[in-house]
Amino acid sequence: MSGVSEKDILGALARVIDPDKGKDIVALGMIQGVQLREGHVAFAIEVDRARAPNLEPLRRQAEKAVEALPGVLSVTAVLTAEKAQGAAPVRAPQAAAPGHAHPAPGRGQAPQKPLAPGVKFFIAVASGKGGVGKSTTAVNLALGLESLGLKIGVLDADIYGPSVPRMLGISGKPATADGKILEPMRAHGIKCMSIGFLVPEDTPMIWRGPMVMSALQQMLRDVNWGELDVMVVDMPPGTGDAQLTMAQQVPLAGAVIVSTPQDIALLDARRGLAMFKKVDVPVLGFIENMSYFKCPHCGERSDIFSHGGAHLEADKLGVEFLGEVPLDIAIRETSDAGTPIVIAQPQSEHAQVYRRIATRIWEMLGAKQRAAPKIVVE
Ligand code: ADP
Repeated sequence: MSGVSEKDILGALARVIDPDKGKDIVALGMIQGVQLREGHVAFAIEVDRARAPNLEPLRRQAEKAVEALPGVLSVTAVLTAEKAQGAAPVRAPQAAAPGHAHPAPGRGQAPQKPLAPGVKFFIAVASGKGGVGKSTTAVNLALGLESLGLKIGVLDADIYGPSVPRMLGISGKPATADGKILEPMRAHGIKCMSIGFLVPEDTPMIWRGPMVMSALQQMLRDVNWGELDVMVVDMPPGTGDAQLTMAQQVPLAGAVIVSTPQDIALLDARRGLAMFKKVDVPVLGFIENMSYFKCPHCGERSDIFSHGGAHLEADKLGVEFLGEVPLDIAIRETSDAGTPIVIAQPQSEHAQVYRRIATRIWEMLGAKQRAAPKIVVE
């Protein structure tokens, strides 16, 4: 039983002085969302976005001040950028108490202001873990949708490894005419924006969570997306709090879960399904990536990962199985070169698979639209 209280925490933080303002961070109203669970403490320090890169010493000092209190087992302080007007509230970090699941925030906290109002449908491409080919799938599906004559955007929200620009052969930074609204990057007929343009690569992970939330908002609000039929969102891998919050921040019409055939990945895929359920986002289906190996020399197929697992699992869970994509060096080489296979080899078997899945997704979205017409109130 720890005797530490919120008052003790604020008392300790009141001894930490903001170096630029010369006052303590409690009096300045910078402390937000103090959480305390069985000696584990978490809180956010709200700062001006421009100052964030220089405030790591302040953040550490605040953590140390609280750590020194008797009964405190761990402290997590994160810097959070000031809320922009009309933005959804940035969720405060959770105090880490082992064995306690974080409560799922309902969808009730959806942002009030329409985000990217010209976008008809947002779909998430998600995976239970990294390295399963989520971004490769997102990019090829986006290009597959574009080949149907649709207007498509890709929003790269993968904090851990934003790779969409590289896969689309995009380099440089997005342009802005007025310093406020960014122009999306363009490649192969689709528009693209990446969290990698807004959150510098060397940003320590502890800052990323809160920065990412405001970067995500910025990518939806402050980018000149124009009219789009579908925005494909490349989610960060995994099913933790960051992913859950993101799934909540974007008005998703549906999600696609990418999985490899290994059982462990399937378990993760199941977690993905549960996560989207929590936030009421329908899962449009599973895609099995690296499903089987096709020898580049003899064309022979070998099922190195007990192929077919995702299909079986999808059936079991009552989720549509959208298709399988083999492990083929051509898929990697083409996206490494910035021209994904749907563009580089449009007649190939693999490009056809991606287009078939894209067609099915568009069918499902169209059906949704017919079932629930969008009512716009002026
Ligand atoms: P994730 O987004 O899940 O982390 P990526 O899409 O970045 O995964 O893929 C990880 C690596 O695997 C990349 O080098 C990519 O080119 C490669 N890759 C993805 N799918 C395939 C595939 N079907 N065949 C061959 N290589 C693939």
